[in-house]
Amino acid sequence: MSTTTSQARIIVVEDEITVALSIRQSLQLMGYTVPELAASGAEAIDKIRRHAPDLVLMDIGLPGKMDGIEAARQINRRFGTPVIFITGHTDPTTFQRAKKTIPAGYIPKPFTEQELFTAVELALTRPSPGQNHVAAKITANGTTTEKPDRFRTMIEDIPALVCRFLADGTLTYVNAAYCAYFNKSRIDLIGSNFLRYAPKVDQQRVRRQVEALTPDAPVGNFVHQVVTPTHEVRWLQWTCQAIFDDSLNDREYQAVGSDITERKQAEANLLLSDQILQQMPSAIIVTDLSGKIQRWTGKARDIFGYSASEAVGRPISFIHLPQSDIDSTERILAKIKETGEFFGEVTGITKSGKTVPIEASAKPIFDKFGRPLVLICTLRDITFRKKNEQALEESEERFRLAFENANIGVWLIDLEGRLLRANNRMCQILGYNRDELERLNVNDVTHPQDVDLPLEFVEGSLAGKTDHITFEKRYIHKQGYVVWANASTSLVRDSFGQPLYFISHVQDITRQKLIETERERLISQLETKNTELERMTYTISHDLKSPLITIQGFLTLLEKDAANNASERFEQNIKFIRAAAKKMKQLVDDLLEISRIGRLPSLRETIPLSEMIREAISMVAGSINVRAAKVYVSHDMPTVVGDRARLSQVFQNLIDNAVKFMGTEPNPTIKIGGRIEGNFAVCYVKDNGIGIDPRYHHRIFNLFDRLDTDTEGSGVGLALAKRVVELHGGQIWVESAGAGQGSIFWVKLPLTATNPDLP
Ligand code: ADP
Repeated sequence: MSTTTSQARIIVVEDEITVALSIRQSLQLMGYTVPELAASGAEAIDKIRRHAPDLVLMDIGLPGKMDGIEAARQINRRFGTPVIFITGHTDPTTFQRAKKTIPAGYIPKPFTEQELFTAVELALTRPSPGQNHVAAKITANGTTTEKPDRFRTMIEDIPALVCRFLADGTLTYVNAAYCAYFNKSRIDLIGSNFLRYAPKVDQQRVRRQVEALTPDAPVGNFVHQVVTPTHEVRWLQWTCQAIFDDSLNDREYQAVGSDITERKQAEANLLLSDQILQQMPSAIIVTDLSGKIQRWTGKARDIFGYSASEAVGRPISFIHLPQSDIDSTERILAKIKETGEFFGEVTGITKSGKTVPIEASAKPIFDKFGRPLVLICTLRDITFRKKNEQALEESEERFRLAFENANIGVWLIDLEGRLLRANNRMCQILGYNRDELERLNVNDVTHPQDVDLPLEFVEGSLAGKTDHITFEKRYIHKQGYVVWANASTSLVRDSFGQPLYFISHVQDITRQKLIETERERLISQLETKNTELERMTYTISHDLKSPLITIQGFLTLLEKDAANNASERFEQNIKFIRAAAKKMKQLVDDLLEISRIGRLPSLRETIPLSEMIREAISMVAGSINVRAAKVYVSHDMPTVVGDRARLSQVFQNLIDNAVKFMGTEPNPTIKIGGRIEGNFAVCYVKDNGIGIDPRYHHRIFNLFDRLDTDTEGSGVGLALAKRVVELHGGQIWVESAGAGQGSIFWVKLPLTATNPDLP
């Protein structure tokens, strides 16, 4: 701005001191003098009276009874000083009132320095109100007839586009900036239509707007597009003033314009970005660094219920719960300062007072020097998600409780057999805590002879052919013992049908199994007992009967001999009767012995076998000597634990039998030895006697079963030995190749005490 109507003195009436100071600074920079600022109508009138300025810039909204319009009216009446209104958004009634004061111009807020300068210059160069509205005639070469040259020079030089045109649009004057803008000479332009570069629709509209200007409202603003000589479409904004002649019929227009293409583009971009943001599912809120809202877009209105005009300017804290410490604005701002961003959940509060769960993120935007300018906050209503989460949590919790508290073991096994999750009962069944168990594979706790899941089922279920399977299997408790279980397993798939894991319900049936085994043992014991009883009945009826018949027969003989007084066979017969009675007693004693053996409590003592066998040999030394048998006992016999008297009885019996069933062997030899095998002592009594046909190996251990009835005996000895050995948790068996091949009787006894009652 090289030339101005300099030295013009302007009073600025504006109650907002920062705005007033800024206008004053701009005006001073343009070369004007600002003798005073005024903050109210009354102050303005007083200062105008004292300084008699050339122009007054008047804010309409002023404090006190007198607003800007009323002040202008009084100024007009008392001093005739031209007044330019600085207006914000003015409602039609106010505008009508303002118009009546015939102001020298309007500057809409916000304005640029260029707009301020143009408005001030136009006001200073036009006739003041009260004077006649006589247009300053401008000739084709641009000189004014009535105005001094200094104004022409000023208008020539300002960068704004200035023109004058007649009612039909014919240009009568253009300034240098106008020529430069359209890249045409003044000769080319003057005489052409001022709307020649505007599109048709704009031409009609602008023409109507221009025609609508009246002496009462001679100033108007309008905007239109132009197509420049370089075929660019640009936007021009004009402030146009109609200048009427005395008759008010003929008129000319003077217009000052500027290119607002950039502003329009910025507006369009803003509109576009706003429209894009509207599509976002979140509220997008821009705040200054203290959290004061500057932009309110996206779904902000939908979520919080406030319009942009209600929200802009307020602190962002007004949309979230004030009492919450966690989501206080201070904390969020502190967090951003500390880490450069904030991400978290806050409780929002809507216009209607409803609380809304919000997922918020906030980040600063920086200028090119790295200084934070504003904060961009993205807020998402997560009510729906929260509800879903809550519902899911509740159903999870229900499932978890059912899972945890089930009285049956439940676990989830992945497709590789790894244990994913086990409930309390499952941990109890196997003796592991959850952490231990969930680190194992199902095979680690499965009995080696059982499979974890039958392969057919795994393959069948993965192929979608089998639903579930129930089977009995054995697990190994952490303490090493067997746990019997009834397992029911199914494959779980995800919503797409993909196999996820197996779920197994496991019922501990160890107790039932024990009971079952015990029952089977008892049944078999009972069966054995029954067989023995049958045999006993037979023996009683047969073996006891035969001595009785003998006794009866000889008693008859004795009777006869007594009647005949024949005494020569008497002694002989008595001998037979006694022998038969002895036999009967032996049988009855054996029966008693066998019936006692199962009931006697077993004593447990440490027994070195060599020692005990020596005792046994001494007990049967008589028969050994009679048969002149040689007995060899190995030195290193093991030591066992058991009932000494009973075990001694077993070995006596075996040695006695070895002598008894030696047959005609000229060198009767008995060898006794033993060794340790695992937890057992395995001993043998070997003879070179008559041997036993392998067909009868099993039978000889039965009660009263005898192969050789010629030899003295009752058939109780081996049955008794078997029972004693088994009661010790051991076994007895015989090996013999057959008749004349000798026999070996084997006795296997545990080295330490066991409970033979357990399976
Ligand atoms: P007993 O000796 O009273 O006949 P055991 O129960 O001791 O009854 O023996 C059953 C049967 O087994 C004997 O009758 C005999 O036939 C056979 N037996 C036992 N020991 C031997 C042996 N060392 N050699 C051949 N046979 C034997």
